[in-house]
Amino acid sequence: MAEVYETNNFIHNAIDKDLEEGKCHEDILTRFPPEPNGYLHIGHAKSICLNFTTAAKYNGKCNLRYDDTNPVKEDMEYVRSIEEDVKWLGFKWDKRLWASDYFDEMYECAVQLIKEGKAYVCDLTADQIREYRGTLKEPGKESPYRNRTVEENLQLFEEMREGKYADGEKVLRARIDMASPNINMRDPVIYRIAHASHHNTGDKWCIYPMYDFAHPIEDAIEGITHSICTLEFEDHRPLYDWVLQAIGKWEKPPRQIEFARLNLTNTVMSKRYLKAMVDDGRVDGWDDPRMPTIAGIRRRGYTPEAVRDFCERIGVAKANSTVEADLLDACVRDDLKTKVENRNVVENPIKVVITNYPEDKTEMMEIENSREVPEMGSRMVPFSRELWVDGEDFMEVPAKKYFRLFPGNEVRFKGAYFLTCNEVIKNEDGTIRELLCTYDPETRSGSEGANRKVKGTIHWVDAATAVKIKIRNYDYLMIDDEEGNSIMNPDSLVETYGYAEPSLGEAKPGERFQFFRKGFYIADSELTTDDEKVFNKIVGLKSSWKKK
Ligand code: ATP
Ligand code: MG
Repeated sequence: MAEVYETNNFIHNAIDKDLEEGKCHEDILTRFPPEPNGYLHIGHAKSICLNFTTAAKYNGKCNLRYDDTNPVKEDMEYVRSIEEDVKWLGFKWDKRLWASDYFDEMYECAVQLIKEGKAYVCDLTADQIREYRGTLKEPGKESPYRNRTVEENLQLFEEMREGKYADGEKVLRARIDMASPNINMRDPVIYRIAHASHHNTGDKWCIYPMYDFAHPIEDAIEGITHSICTLEFEDHRPLYDWVLQAIGKWEKPPRQIEFARLNLTNTVMSKRYLKAMVDDGRVDGWDDPRMPTIAGIRRRGYTPEAVRDFCERIGVAKANSTVEADLLDACVRDDLKTKVENRNVVENPIKVVITNYPEDKTEMMEIENSREVPEMGSRMVPFSRELWVDGEDFMEVPAKKYFRLFPGNEVRFKGAYFLTCNEVIKNEDGTIRELLCTYDPETRSGSEGANRKVKGTIHWVDAATAVKIKIRNYDYLMIDDEEGNSIMNPDSLVETYGYAEPSLGEAKPGERFQFFRKGFYIADSELTTDDEKVFNKIVGLKSSWKKK
């Protein structure tokens, strides 16, 4: 189980009070209730963390419950992915449950409400129901079917269940108050007809309970003490309470508590939208590393620790807001910087030839694996006459305060020697072929001579043993266009290649590294093979996002 944080939030305060006043069961029980109609995203991660850590704080439990009351759109692939994601985040559910297992009991509850005059069958069409509902300013109008007798309602509801009516022909409504200031209380629909097969119950049912009716019953049956949901449901809470009270058979019924959903800048967080992107091939599946799905960020290289830390840092709010996506990146950096080893990799490589270094010599240089964690030790890296340096580390005409390689300048090649660039050799088309440099043999790393001050330090890769790798650089999937509309970022994936020190030739899928001075990378779990190493850029060393 993931760590339990000691901080208190308003949900914990509410639970403390309920426990103190004996209003809830002593064994705290929460639930995470996904609808299996898509992959989970980072917003769901927030809900998962909240439900599981809240339960853990009280030595309670948390159920995983599939909210599968809607017969269409559900798929076992989603079920598998949801379980993988919850486990990856580091949580263990107590029971795994299906809302559809309660269909019989929900039906019984509906019959009970009819018998008590608290529900009726209504023949109005969906449009008419909307029209009769009224507005925020005007009370609703009562349905002409509202005063049917109990017998008639029982018979009609039974006939609905038997399949006598078409979809939409009749509904079951709670009989509450058409003049209520809360529109949700104006005789809400609680059962509808849908002639559709259900993945669990098959063709047993052609009537299905509505969310607002089903959810409190699911919670109550399981003995959930606190039903944590997002703010959109705040106005539904009176109905949640009404359903439980009207049925009345549960002692200490569950209590709904709302929190603000997570919104992230430059991130679309809607399963429907994400599914559309997958379906029309704009991304490479649900686990495309650009996707805000948990599967996507996992493949991208984020760690569960970083995601949990992020959810904890943003806290639980009662008002909606949008969190900077940068904060999630910062959590990833903080987590990885003490966990992964450095490697030398250069992009846009430029060849360096050390004219005063013997042609057939190779020295093994000892280079530390981590600046942050000395215990990570060191590795031996070959160094010889021809090297690659990063395109960013050379400027023919240096900018102000540029201390890296340029003609006439001396820099430290990290872990090796000091080199001076003497001459730039160009191809016929004007591009750089190589830089002729000389090294100072007295400056070998670790020796006295290396204490001399130079302003620039760069990294390098031995050309003879370099491994060519593919690098996938990601940017936000969604950006705003000039009119402020959210559009797909055409540069959300840019593929480059790089030269790496030889050890990266052995990288295993899923292995993470810090490419020295560049950022954190992971060998892609699907594209990396024995022959080709493909790395996803997880995150740069510093925030690089500039407001466009
Ligand atoms: P979406 O709107 O993306 O399709 P959903 O709310 O329909 O998501 P569910 O499967 O119904 O998805 O959600 C499961 C749980 O996750 C619910 O309790 C829901 O409130 C919570 N949840 C969904 N999105 C977020 C979010 N952005 N932030 C926090 N919690 C969320
Ligand atoms: Mg939903």
